[in-house]
Amino acid sequence: MNQKPKHDLLAQLDHKYVWHPFTQMRDWLKSEPIVITSGKGCALRDAKGLEYLDANSSIWTNLHGHAHPKINAAIQRQLKKIAHSSALGFANEPASLLAERLVKMANPKAKSGLDGVSAQQRPHLGKVFFSDDGSTAMEVALKLAYAYARRTGRKQPRFLSLDGAYHGDTVGAVSLGHIDLFHKAYAGMLFKSDKTPAPYCYRCPHNRAKPERADARTYRKCNWECLGKLETQFATQKKKGNPYAAFAFEPLMQGAAGMIAQPEGWLRRATDVARGHGAHLIADEVMTGFGRTASNFACHKEGVQPDFMALAKGLTGGYLPMAATLATQKVFDAFLGRYEEFKTFFHGHSFTGNQLGASASLANLEILQNQESLRARKILEKTLREELKVLWASPNIGDIRQVGLVVGIELVRDWRTREPFALAERAGIRVCEAMSRKGVLTRPVGNVIVLLPPYCTTPSQARRMVRAVYEACEELFGK
Ligand code: PMP
Repeated sequence: MNQKPKHDLLAQLDHKYVWHPFTQMRDWLKSEPIVITSGKGCALRDAKGLEYLDANSSIWTNLHGHAHPKINAAIQRQLKKIAHSSALGFANEPASLLAERLVKMANPKAKSGLDGVSAQQRPHLGKVFFSDDGSTAMEVALKLAYAYARRTGRKQPRFLSLDGAYHGDTVGAVSLGHIDLFHKAYAGMLFKSDKTPAPYCYRCPHNRAKPERADARTYRKCNWECLGKLETQFATQKKKGNPYAAFAFEPLMQGAAGMIAQPEGWLRRATDVARGHGAHLIADEVMTGFGRTASNFACHKEGVQPDFMALAKGLTGGYLPMAATLATQKVFDAFLGRYEEFKTFFHGHSFTGNQLGASASLANLEILQNQESLRARKILEKTLREELKVLWASPNIGDIRQVGLVVGIELVRDWRTREPFALAERAGIRVCEAMSRKGVLTRPVGNVIVLLPPYCTTPSQARRMVRAVYEACEELFGK
């Protein structure tokens, strides 16, 4: 088939039948979709034969690029044996190997931010519960934390999470979330969780840093008022006789909240408060894990070892829906008992421990650990940091937040006043549409443009991504 009719047919089918996630379908149906047909490295190709850079790693999932020969080969090797058999009743080779690998990675022996952290502050994450995606990984963490708290004497376990938190779209994960736009409509079906201020320094009333251009700006000038509030919340809840069972957080960078970067030391301090009040820590490393923000996991960079760790997205290198929740032996033991005691964790999915996903993950982690990949990530991080400086020349860019290989660029009406664009102006969406016309694909979170490139992105491709943001702003808002 020649390319134009192929595109037209596929676009028609999409418009007729497919309902897209997080998409206003009235707008979608008015525009021509980009129909992706293949990918190689950092590039995606559409049904018209046009090539684009995948500047958000296909919604924060891809690590080493598309069609990576080693991951492809691992899946093909596994396919020759079996695609899937159930973990309900049976073990399988790649899932067992992967579980061992994840436990090793999550409990580094040496050369990590955990060096010197006391044993008490450093629970051993020794058990792996597999599921399908970020939401289910968080759902598992939540249910385990809830059941454990109940089994250890708490009547009505309560949870605390960050303002702007997003932990997925299943009902438990939504209950932990605090983005009104997504979550309010479902309030009636959710359990109540409390929120605490996120360290959104750019818009924090306690930050006395002046709105200068970033090169000259001190990011945070405050007395950690957000942590004072956190301490008060924990103390108040304890006084009520029902201390928080767990504190859930995205470490170092909150994604869907608008790429909110936590200032150095915040995570360590916040989790010390939570631990001090006997709460479990649930680290949502769905976006931040696997080298995205730190060498392996974001929380280790701050010397924090959680009691539950949720992993997904990059676990398979962005190939297949597979996720994992890591938990401690202590929690595991609370579910042990005689059959008829029904202490079993009654939770699971048809594709739990899927062999294709586990094989892809093993190959992915192998690549992640090699020196060449580590070096490439360092170079990419530095290149981005350098290239991003050009954006400070745009009057409509108020803040640039980079943690490792995650970048959030906050669009504003004027950098001096920090006045935000009204949501109805769809500034983020329009900038991304303009970027796509320049061959760079990404998706905004509100008025924040996200650059989150695959690790194989070359310096010149990274430059193209950043330049596309700049040129799109200039085109839409003028100089
Ligand atoms: N947690 C975080 C931090 C996320 O960024 C996301 C997805 N963006 C999720 C959980 C949910 O993951 P999934 O979309 O795979 O269900």
